This record gives sequence, structure tokens and C-alpha cells, in this order.
Amino acid sequence: MPRLSEVIAELDALWPPERAEGWDAVGTVCGDPGAEIDRVLFAVDPVERIAEEARTLGAQLIVTHHPLYLRGTTTVAATTFKGRVVHGLIKHDIALHVAHTNADTADPGVSDALAAALDLRITGPLVPDAGGRRGLGRICELDHPETLREFAARAAARLPATAQGIRLAGDPDAVVRRVAVSGGSGDSLFDAVRASGVDAFLTADLRHHPASEAVQHSPLGLVDAAHWATEWPWCEQAAGQLEAISDRHGWGLRVHVSKQVTDPWTTHHSSGAPN
Ligand SMILES: [Zn+2]
Repeated sequence: MPRLSEVIAELDALWPPERAEGWDAVGTVCGDPGAEIDRVLFAVDPVERIAEEARTLGAQLIVTHHPLYLRGTTTVAATTFKGRVVHGLIKHDIALHVAHTNADTADPGVSDALAAALDLRITGPLVPDAGGRRGLGRICELDHPETLREFAARAAARLPATAQGIRLAGDPDAVVRRVAVSGGSGDSLFDAVRASGVDAFLTADLRHHPASEAVQHSPLGLVDAAHWATEWPWCEQAAGQLEAISDRHGWGLRVHVSKQVTDPWTTHHSSGAPN
């Protein structure tokens, strides 16, 4: 059985922590480097429900995409929700490790998993970094042109179900051949999306003003999914990567992906067709 430190060394090779953004907080949140690991749980969010799932499974390590603490803290008292998570993890000898923006820009990274979930052919990064193929977001081609409405329906069918579902901006009958995809909040990438000349952009958390300006400036179609849903495919991709590493070392790790929807939005009511 591998030690936590050995597993973390392999995870750091997949998603080098030095590739994370300066504002980010990636790496090991809690855990004894010498602890033996035989079950690992992947999830998007380090919330109590996920910690409970790890306890039920008997997992000794949780790997999440989102950090527990993004900024410094002076308390892990169990009177706060984050403190309760820390208490629960330490009490049950469960380690927590985070791969966030270092997983976004990895190869394969979060947007590769999103593109794969929709069966899109990746042609390159949306925002390349100095390393070439790696970078934020991906530019993809569809095997056959389809309407924006059909592309949105594909996203709705292929991504895990959420209360939000899929929102669409732009002409639903416009033809889509090339798309940009970016897991998580994507409206900071509009300049790169416009420069790439794609027909549509699939991402999450699109705000009113950037979205409005984007569709006014160009015929770009916007497909907005729940943040959690755009990043969840990474959990399956990452679990597959760790299973391959485990096989190579003969570790025999049992690797799980949480199916719990931890997107904060729980209900959606359509207000009817707009004018
Ligand atoms: Zn995210």
C-alpha cells in the first residue's frame, strides 16, 4: 500500500503545483505523509457531504478541484463549515488534496475532460501558455455542423444533470462548426474566444454584461452550464489517470468518483417563454 506522500508525488507530477495561479491555494490541505492509502475519492467541492462519502467508503484521501481555503484563515474551529470539514477529516484520518488552476492548464486538464464528455475534437488551447499545447480552455471542432440549439442539447445530454441545466445565448438556429470550451467560470476569456473566431463558447457562470456584450459584438453563441457540471468530467479523467499510475506501481488503489451534485443551485423554475 502506498504512503500518502508517494501518491501526492504522483499527483503533483500530473498537476504541478507551481503551475497554479498566484492567487490560488493548491496542494495538500491536511493529511499525514506517512499514512497508508488504499482508497481515493475524487470530487469537485470539498464540502461536508463529500467528507462523509469518503468516510462511508473508507477512503483515506479525497482529491478535489476546488480549494477548501482560498485565503488565509486564523481558525479551523468546528463552528465554521470549513472548520467542521477539517475536524471531520482529521478525526477520521482522511487527507485532502487540491488540484485547481494547475489542473485547468494541465495536459490533459479540466477543459480536455469537458471536451471529451461532449465528444469534441480538440485542435488546441484557447489561451496557450509558453509551453505550447497546455493552457486555459480548448478550441474544438465538431464532426458534423449542428445548430447552436443542437449543440446545447448535446451539452445537456452529456454533462451530469443539475438544477440549472443549460442556458443559451445567441441565435439557436446558427450553425456551429468550431467551439471553445472552458471548465468553470469562463467570462474572463471572451477576448480570446472572439479572437479565435469560433461559432460558440461552452463554459459556466457567464455574467449579464460580458455575455450581453459578447453576443452584441459578434454572432457568437453562448452555452452556459452549471459550474460544477463543467468541472465534474475532470474527476473521472483524473481518477483514470491515478488508476493507471496505481497499476504501473502495483499499488492496487481503489479509486472512486463522487456522483453527488455539489453545485450550490438546487432548483430551477422557468418563468415562461420571453417575448
Ligand atoms: Zn471551478
